[in-house]
Amino acid sequence: MASPSRAAGRRVVFFPFPYQGHFNPLLRLAGALHARGVMVTVFHTDLRAPDPADYPSDYRFVSVPVHTYVPPELVASEDIARLVMELNISCAAPFKKRLAAMLAEEVVEAGGVRCVITDVIWYSAQAAARELGLPALGFMTSSAASFRSFMVYPALIEKGYLPVQAEENKDDPVDVLPPFRVKYLERIETSSLADFATLLGHRVDGARRSTGLIINTVEAIEAVDLDKIREDMCVPVFAVGPLNKFTPLVKSSLYQLQQDHRCLDWLDTQAPGSVVYVSFGSLATMDPHEFVELAWSLAGSKRPFIWVVRPSLIRGFESGDLPDGFWDEVGDRGRIVDWAPQDEVLAHPAVGAFLTHNGWNSTMEAVSEGVPMISRPFLGDQYGNAMFVCHVWRVGVEVEVENQLERGKIQGAIEKLMGNKEGKEIRERITNLKETAEKSIKESGPSHTALLNLADLIFSL
Ligand code: UDP
Repeated sequence: MASPSRAAGRRVVFFPFPYQGHFNPLLRLAGALHARGVMVTVFHTDLRAPDPADYPSDYRFVSVPVHTYVPPELVASEDIARLVMELNISCAAPFKKRLAAMLAEEVVEAGGVRCVITDVIWYSAQAAARELGLPALGFMTSSAASFRSFMVYPALIEKGYLPVQAEENKDDPVDVLPPFRVKYLERIETSSLADFATLLGHRVDGARRSTGLIINTVEAIEAVDLDKIREDMCVPVFAVGPLNKFTPLVKSSLYQLQQDHRCLDWLDTQAPGSVVYVSFGSLATMDPHEFVELAWSLAGSKRPFIWVVRPSLIRGFESGDLPDGFWDEVGDRGRIVDWAPQDEVLAHPAVGAFLTHNGWNSTMEAVSEGVPMISRPFLGDQYGNAMFVCHVWRVGVEVEVENQLERGKIQGAIEKLMGNKEGKEIRERITNLKETAEKSIKESGPSHTALLNLADLIFSL
């Protein structure tokens, strides 16, 4: 039974996962609900803490210590599945302790906590909230299609689609997950498939036990996958994307990088639709060979570009040394930044193409600004997102990578997108998709309505 003070309250606890691609959309959801009367408390790990100065002054921030429990070498390693499980194990107790302390304090000051919203990847925190008698909602930071792939993951392994083994099977259709083909299935190369399957299973189980599942997607774009999820889950499912259009920017990089706004001034001097924006998000790494090939492909494209080269983008190196002669070739035609104000860059009329890893946030941000994509996925859901972008919605061009990425492939993809008739059709299609996304967030649009329904559900708890 909720105490009287709790029932009167409007506070929601948000607990984002400490990765940029997980953090941004949950904080955007918090912002969208804040605008609709929710009081926001952000629980965050002391590993990669946000800067409260970047958020409204009435947000509260509570630090959950995990640093002492998770070995630094695991945090730095590429074994993401193990790290995620370890974080879940180590975080549950400190999260519960701080949440319990907060609940006790809230009763005294009559603030009242309605529920907890955590990333579905924080399944242990959801369980901890429920143990304290608080309803927990799950938030999926990637697509509905990706969540559906979690649901059928055991079947993908059982039927031999995973691990992706033979070159000749890569293009086979996946019967339990249309329209996927084998090579686009979600996977992480560096961890054990069994661990990864267990991890995905935890996320699905957590969502099944939740009070509702929230997804940063657009009903009209992912209707088939959303319907399938709803058929299988007995909880309400809210498609509330694209959240980047609901909420002002999330300024902080969790990696202490400053957004470089000077590139926006430079964009002002460029012709409309002429610039290639290149960014592979916060996590993907490439080998030095690919870095050099990419540098020469941008130099050789003769088109203006902004390229995000964040520290550690190149596997095994803190920073990337550009090849000799690169700047002689490029001159003032290019800008390299550590970290870009990506929303503003994509919204700028000078940007005509986005060379991306197809993280889901980047994909939704590009769709909502109508920027066609050149897809170079690296891991996880990025393969499936790239498949939708290039082969289902057909608003992008895929860079073919066989063993290693070669400069000609990227240059060819840039030319295809920016230069010829096929590019024109792609640009028309992305403009239509942008309009679909725009309609969804307008008053009475499906995402707008879903957000209001979600707020109603929260206040009814
Ligand atoms: N981002 C940014 N500046 C950059 C690169 C990325 O603000 O220079 C933001 C981007 O807008 C997105 C997030 O970081 O919101 C990356 O999330 P995504 O899902 O695209 O990729 P991930 O980092 O999870 O691989």
